[in-house]
Amino acid sequence: MASRPSYVHGASARPLLGVTISECLRQTIARFPKRDALVVRHQGIRWTYAELGARVDRLAASLLRLGLNPGDRLGIWSPNCAEWVLTQFAAAKAGIILVTINPAYQLRELEFVLKHVGCRALVLAPVFRGNDYLGMLQSLAPELRSAPPGHLQAARLPDLQLVIRLGREATPGIFNFDDLLPEPEAAERARLAEVETALQADDAINIQFTSGTTGLPKGATLSHHNILNNGRYVVEAMRFTEHDRLCIPVPLYHCFGMVMGTLGCITHGACMVFSGEAFDPRSVLEAVQAERCTALYGVPTMFIRILEDPEIGRFDLKSLRTGIMAGAPCPVEVMKRVVEQLHMSEITIAYGMTETSPVSFQSAWDDTIERRVSTVGRIQPHLEAKVVDASGRVVPRGTKGELLVRGYSVMLGYWNEPERTAEAIDRARWMHTGDLATIDEDGYGNIVGRSKDVVIRGGENIYPREVEEFLFQHPRIQEVACVGVPDQRNGEEVCACVVLRPGATCTEEELRAYCQGQIARYKIPRYFRFVDKFPMTVTGKIQKFILRKQVADELGLQEVRTA
Ligand code: AMP
Repeated sequence: MASRPSYVHGASARPLLGVTISECLRQTIARFPKRDALVVRHQGIRWTYAELGARVDRLAASLLRLGLNPGDRLGIWSPNCAEWVLTQFAAAKAGIILVTINPAYQLRELEFVLKHVGCRALVLAPVFRGNDYLGMLQSLAPELRSAPPGHLQAARLPDLQLVIRLGREATPGIFNFDDLLPEPEAAERARLAEVETALQADDAINIQFTSGTTGLPKGATLSHHNILNNGRYVVEAMRFTEHDRLCIPVPLYHCFGMVMGTLGCITHGACMVFSGEAFDPRSVLEAVQAERCTALYGVPTMFIRILEDPEIGRFDLKSLRTGIMAGAPCPVEVMKRVVEQLHMSEITIAYGMTETSPVSFQSAWDDTIERRVSTVGRIQPHLEAKVVDASGRVVPRGTKGELLVRGYSVMLGYWNEPERTAEAIDRARWMHTGDLATIDEDGYGNIVGRSKDVVIRGGENIYPREVEEFLFQHPRIQEVACVGVPDQRNGEEVCACVVLRPGATCTEEELRAYCQGQIARYKIPRYFRFVDKFPMTVTGKIQKFILRKQVADELGLQEVRTA
């Protein structure tokens, strides 16, 4: 008998939501006005859905009053905080496209993203973990110092007009976030209502940057329909209701926080609990205990660090029931300990990518532990997936190939890059994930590798090409190749293998210092190796898999067991 093809469809009797984010939020506020919506521990904030809704309306009205229009791009560059959540929902209400900027970005990366999508406005924290955001912006736009707020004209950032900062201090040329929360006047309310009614679920509402194998980051452009539905089905796989309280230690700039987290919660009236401005294991334990959280999100590295906390035993974590581990393969032992020590017996595994909203496969709350450690679950409701060979033909079940995903979740495209979009999404609307997978007879997916050149370090994707292009500008470097090497804690780390110019000398410290302040800290290679030459194919391509093995052996690093 011929084997079944590796094609699956998530048939579902639960129709997709055909509404905008703002309509969904409005309905949830109407149903659960008094229930907790948002708890931000490090800011001492606790708001009900009615309170959250009132602030969102005020901020949305202010954004329109300040001259932003539906379809404009508004960047946000900040660690997790209440203002981030307000900005997300206010922008969605006013039809303004939220551009989420990685808090680890440095000068070059900030300049690139602001220009690439033409941000008219930017909300930013003044400083975070030694990163002087205001200072970096001022060095890109020194005109801020003399421009009236809202009227910036900067040579290097021609689209940026309006800058809004968090915190109390005043900065020339910049609005303070808190000043944008006054009660709107009747005419402003009327304008907001008019804008909201005109919005369509298929409008673009969010741009998230994903780095590319070809160097510069790409702006994955997502609609209300994409991300609202994805957030909703993701939390439904965990059986969420309005009684759930989700601890979100993952960053908001990424889809894990702002789609699976905040949007997921508003579809069911659940409470979003932020444990800190960035991940910290102790503050997660404290938040879960104090807020009686029922669910917890994290990439495998975060769960490893939580389990490593020497005082874990003194916390009452029995309220936990479920959650998601995603972003990278989960080591088996970690999964077992999460179920036992964190009481997350219904934890699920999710697999996806930013371009597909993100989640396309997720395990069920009642899948056997065996399934939950060895697969990424089954296809999500309403989505389709297939596994194809190098010529694009569907392979039989159990055979390895590239994973393709189709359905409501596939992004609108990469911002202003029709060619790169066409490389990723084919004529039949399949998104080519670049991940190698198998689908078994029962429809369970397994991610077995990647056809794209990416290193996943503690849940952050690093594209070697981007780091190589940066290092290549160093005057003493002749050739450079970056590879991922195994790491017990972060899954992988970047190792840069460098061939110096003839006669040149250079130290590891010098190269590290060269990267500092220019590229995000997580992209700076953990290891630098100086080599004479690279293993090459006959056609002159670097054989990265050989290089990877060579350096891993030299460094004495062992593979991480994930199944
Ligand atoms: P991002 O766009 O940042 O969400 O990263 C997406 C990539 O992360 C995918 O293409 C996969 O390579 C990887 N990934 C996400 N979830 C998983 C998972 N559960 N297991 C293995 N790899 C994953």
